[in-house]
Amino acid sequence: MINYQPSDHPDFAARAAANQAERAADLKTTYDFIVCGAGSAGSVLARRLAENPAVQVLLIEAGGSDERTSVMEPGAWPTNLGTDTDWGFMAEPNPALNGRAMPMSMGKVCGGGSSINVMVWARGHRSDWDHFAAESGDASWGYEAVLGLYREIENWQGAADPARRGSGGPVFVQPAPDPGPAAYAMIDAAQELGIPTYASPNGQMMEGAGGCAISDLVIRNGKRHSMFRAFTYPFLDRPNLTLLTDTQVNRVLIQDGRAFGVEVLRNGALHRFKAAHEVILSLGAIQTPTVLMRSGIGEEAELRAHDIKLVSKLSGVGANLQDHVSFGCTWEYREPIAPRNNGSEATLYWKSDAALADPDLLFCQVEFPVPSPETAPRGVPEHGWTMFAGLAQPKSRGRVRLVSADPNVGPRIELNTFGHPDDLKAALACVELCRDLGNTQAFAPLVTREAMPGSLNKADMEQYVRDAAVTYWHQTCSAKMGRDAMSVVDAELRVYGIEGLRVADGSIMPTITTGNTMAPCVIIGEKASRYIRATHGL
Ligand SMILES: Cc1cc2nc3c(=O)[nH]c(=O)nc-3n(C[C@H](O)[C@H](O)[C@H](O)COP(=O)(O)OP(=O)(O)OC[C@H]3O[C@@H](n4cnc5c(N)ncnc54)[C@H](O)[C@@H]3O)c2cc1C
Repeated sequence: MINYQPSDHPDFAARAAANQAERAADLKTTYDFIVCGAGSAGSVLARRLAENPAVQVLLIEAGGSDERTSVMEPGAWPTNLGTDTDWGFMAEPNPALNGRAMPMSMGKVCGGGSSINVMVWARGHRSDWDHFAAESGDASWGYEAVLGLYREIENWQGAADPARRGSGGPVFVQPAPDPGPAAYAMIDAAQELGIPTYASPNGQMMEGAGGCAISDLVIRNGKRHSMFRAFTYPFLDRPNLTLLTDTQVNRVLIQDGRAFGVEVLRNGALHRFKAAHEVILSLGAIQTPTVLMRSGIGEEAELRAHDIKLVSKLSGVGANLQDHVSFGCTWEYREPIAPRNNGSEATLYWKSDAALADPDLLFCQVEFPVPSPETAPRGVPEHGWTMFAGLAQPKSRGRVRLVSADPNVGPRIELNTFGHPDDLKAALACVELCRDLGNTQAFAPLVTREAMPGSLNKADMEQYVRDAAVTYWHQTCSAKMGRDAMSVVDAELRVYGIEGLRVADGSIMPTITTGNTMAPCVIIGEKASRYIRATHGL
């Protein structure tokens, strides 16, 4: 059944384009709010602010239009990696990964990560949100309150669960339609190992020890339903929302402790825009801390090293960087099986240690082989599938640093994977569980053999996980919310020490959520809009 919304009308695209061309030709010097970055969180925030027709919103995005096949076709998501829709960041070489440098893709296009990601909708575990509440001292970040927000924003298409799911919101979420045989085999494999299975990974399953379910996806009418499409696009015909694409935010302009605007690079020239009320950074967990540092907000020594005048000393800027890391295990198919939907239709969360209260491992089934460059020489089957399995609650912490004050020079990303010894232990447990799942009777009709890693001794298995480690692209936590000396924003996402400046994106997570990070970033955008509206009586 085709889902319809007013922006699907054939006339809408032309009306929106004409409106935005008019706005761009008549740029104002001052807007009420400047939202920097049209990614998962920024797309939500800009829309929510623009819902009030009296409010003028400027949304600035470095990337371009999302109207391209690589973004819109769900199965084409890997074709974005390494192209102009990807910032193409690289982490520093890491001795714990046998000296490897990990590519750290992030979306550079309207929709940000939500336009190049795998479209898995994962809302986080109960304990993640309760931890956010404890760190911020604000109960409205807790699970029960956030559940209410999810109910409001979702247009849930699966089995009714009124306590947890809503159907009137802008985010069209559905269980993977008509999933492939490997996804069903994964559910059966979990049952074989005594892991509970659920109708959705986003309800009861994420309130307890974990389990396995067919993935929830943000695909609508067969196309990617990015957060830009869900929230911002339907508002592009409004006179109070100006979207500037292909425009890079260089720094926040601050005077006397107050953010009053931004400096941007557009068409090769520097421009300034003023914010009558607030500037909000939604640039993602790599760019938000770098823009803060270039604006004079960060660790004193780091700013001094780049001759940047200190405006506010906040040592936590760029610190506490977190990401999920995966170690792919691959099986060869008996017969080729074409990937369906997004090519990743089953999800499993479980524990590396039975004594843990909550799941710390995340498994996303991928319906084609996904080796790392270093494990590929072990032999990648022509037809096969990979258990993309990794650490959902890593203890290692990294840091984003500046290489130069020049905004056109990329950052230094010290990801520090396996910096904490417990992570290697959990990784080994994770690969063992992967192998147990993939080698169950449930998969036997589909696969001929385990292609990698196979049965290895402890030392060789350690080498395997160090070579196999790749990112889930869930960079977060680099400008954390909290109340200690390393916190960058308070419970209402206001940057400490600066008036009129907030951060609303994955950077503010105190600890990475258990699962893929887009949906939690949507909640962050929602919450930011509510705090802002309350502050300004909108
Ligand atoms: C390949 C890939 C697969 C993933 N798969 C999933 C998945 O299946 N499910 C899931 O939940 N999560 C997934 N993620 C992660 C998820 O997409 C991100 O966690 C989420 O998008 C982060 O949201 P954000 O708002 O913090 O930042 P982003 O969505 O990254 O948005 C930041 C925006 O700011 C823009 N920007 C940055 N710097 C500047 C600047 N200086 N000036 C102007 N604009 C700028 C960027 O271009 C971008 O549009 C994946 C990510 C990737 C890259």
